[in-house]
Amino acid sequence: MVDATGRSGKLLNQLSIKTKIYDRLAARCVVYHRHANNDQRTLIESTENGWWYSAEIPGNKHVIMYFSDTDLPEYKSIKSFQEFCKQLNKTTHIKNTVSNKLEARDPIVYSFCAQSTQAERVADDNWLAVGDAAIAYDPLSSQGIWQALLGAEMASNTIIKEFTNNLIDLDYVHWISSQAKEYWKLHKGFYAQEKRWVNNQFWQRRQN
Ligand SMILES: Cc1cc2nc3c(=O)[nH]c(=O)nc-3n(C[C@H](O)[C@H](O)[C@H](O)COP(=O)(O)OP(=O)(O)OC[C@H]3O[C@@H](n4cnc5c(N)ncnc54)[C@H](O)[C@@H]3O)c2cc1C
Repeated sequence: MVDATGRSGKLLNQLSIKTKIYDRLAARCVVYHRHANNDQRTLIESTENGWWYSAEIPGNKHVIMYFSDTDLPEYKSIKSFQEFCKQLNKTTHIKNTVSNKLEARDPIVYSFCAQSTQAERVADDNWLAVGDAAIAYDPLSSQGIWQALLGAEMASNTIIKEFTNNLIDLDYVHWISSQAKEYWKLHKGFYAQEKRWVNNQFWQRRQN
């Protein structure tokens, strides 16, 4: 059995395998109509208690997201489209993508969990977990999709070896552990670059 159910880890839950949760990162997101003249770059901008993300996505859409911790006041306050716009206006660069005539498709603020997590076990006799179910990355790392694809390839080799040799192959388990170590180095390095708000909780939590 393969758990490929993303962050919900449905199979892991059924097997009572716990998942370690490392932070409270989440995103508030608004989808806009893409404007032909709009800046097509993916932009990231850090702010006092989080960071903003702006990018084009398929279907002539443009997303703007605010990432912060669910217990922090800025994140909690963004419950409405008006509040989202108010916070967006405090940015220096991301707000300009909207002033380039982007219009919201609808005034709905979507929320997504974006915590870094890792299953306490990722494989055993006759089952394994891949993608976010095994290890979920902070979206700042841009690692989630390719790691899920790479992990699926590693997992398929493990499954073939298990069927062929009737032995649990530990390469996949070791691979996940090594990816986790690399990820945390990268995570620390990225967040350490922001020096302006070292005393603010969001940055403190990621820099100490
Ligand atoms: C806000 C946000 C922004 C992100 N931005 C990026 C980015 O820019 N770049 C990047 O690389 N990554 C990004 N990621 C991470 C990326 O989305 C994930 O790492 C990636 O989608 C993981 O793939 P997955 O197949 O493991 O899980 P998912 O993509 O979550 O797929 C799991 C699938 O399983 C299905 N499912 C769930 N339960 C069941 C069930 N019981 N039975 C059958 N099916 C089920 C779900 O419907 C879903 O289709 C972002 C994540 C978030 C939250």
